[in-house]
Amino acid sequence: MPELPEVEVVRRGLANWVAGRTVAGVDVLHPRAVRRQSAGAADFAARLTGTTFGAAQRRGKYLWVPLAGRGQGFSMIGHLGMSGQLLVQDPAVPDEKHLRVRLRFTDGGRELRFVDQRTFGGLAVEEAEDGDPEGTPVSIAHIARDPLDARFDDAVFVAALRARRTTVKRALLDQTLISGVGNIYADEALWRSRLHYDRPSATLTRPQAALLLANAREVMTAALAVGGTSFDSLYVNVNGESGYFSRDLDAYGREDEPCRRCGTAIRRAAWMNRSSYFCPRCQRVPRVRDGG
Ligand SMILES: [Zn+2]
Repeated sequence: MPELPEVEVVRRGLANWVAGRTVAGVDVLHPRAVRRQSAGAADFAARLTGTTFGAAQRRGKYLWVPLAGRGQGFSMIGHLGMSGQLLVQDPAVPDEKHLRVRLRFTDGGRELRFVDQRTFGGLAVEEAEDGDPEGTPVSIAHIARDPLDARFDDAVFVAALRARRTTVKRALLDQTLISGVGNIYADEALWRSRLHYDRPSATLTRPQAALLLANAREVMTAALAVGGTSFDSLYVNVNGESGYFSRDLDAYGREDEPCRRCGTAIRRAAWMNRSSYFCPRCQRVPRVRDGG
């Protein structure tokens, strides 16, 4: 499953390669790849043909390209699923084995190809929020911005986190509060902040909440730097693997290995059908106050 850094690499690639170009034609080679287009593949192709792409946008792991010209008010959203790739490819290059959708441009230059072996991903043209310059699709307007987004509001997040009746890791994974923080980044940010994952978020002081946010941002920035190194200027490519190498991790995946701060063995606990990795000494279990 691509994480935020890979999606950001794709966004940058799209911004470099397709912004300002007008779609000449669309070939849907597998209907499953456009199944989110309720009126079907022909409708998907008709809505894109003749429109001009704007600058690609991202919110958390959601990616879209606002449409201009005759597509004004709509955006093409891309779901990468488990194995989806968007490739910017010379038209002379033979079709990829798992090519699902091809977009040709009026300039005759590089095509945009959606390749997806497992077909969990797909493309769709969706209505954008009324008057939104970023063309945010209505279906994802409720998703919060991520901390790498220039318009993420730190003060609003800190206040909202402290106002929630939830636990701190649940809050980090709550996409209406903050997006882009997956299980790995949450565990890393909590370890850096010396916070246990089950700590009630309302018990955080303002500096603790601000530190947690700063640490989440730092972890994601580091992951982005690593993920970004695989970016080839000719390819907009997602390989489905996290760009964050395990050697960079302090907590996640390090069960029984010594904490890099205090030497205590890192523990793994079952947590909401996933795992939480933490140092039992640096990240103390919160005291139960009122049975809540
Ligand atoms: Zn420790």
